[in-house]
Amino acid sequence: MSDSCIFCKIVAGAIPSKKIYEDDLVLAFLDIHPQAPVHALVIPKRHIVCMDDLEEADRELVGHLLERTAHVARLLNVAQNGYRTLINTRAHGGQEVDHLHVHILGGARIGPMVCR
Ligand code: AMP
Ligand code: ZN
Repeated sequence: MSDSCIFCKIVAGAIPSKKIYEDDLVLAFLDIHPQAPVHALVIPKRHIVCMDDLEEADRELVGHLLERTAHVARLLNVAQNGYRTLINTRAHGGQEVDHLHVHILGGARIGPMVCR
């Protein structure tokens, strides 16, 4: 846990969230500033800053995170029509919260990926 990390505070229950799914390893909740009709985040409960911090020892956790992301998308009823998953890494990737998270965007056709 990082004392300054907003997502660690959500995991600890110190900041409220609209929880969708939780188990021992991961937590899913609605994004506070939705960029699509359905916008959720799935995070490891352990504080991992970004993709670049992943190590071989994290393989099982990452597999679980991705499989549970698919589960959460089904819970949110976006799986059948489809959705976009997104992981931003550091400044050029547009990462604003330094705790690894998978975005689920759905509920409408998500626009093309753009560089600007
Ligand atoms: P990223 O730019 O990939 O780091 O995405 C961070 C996401 O976290 C943004 O979509 C924010 O809207 C979202 N976010 C920030 N604070 C909160 C919060 N307290 N609860 C839910 N989502 C949040
Ligand atoms: Zn954290």
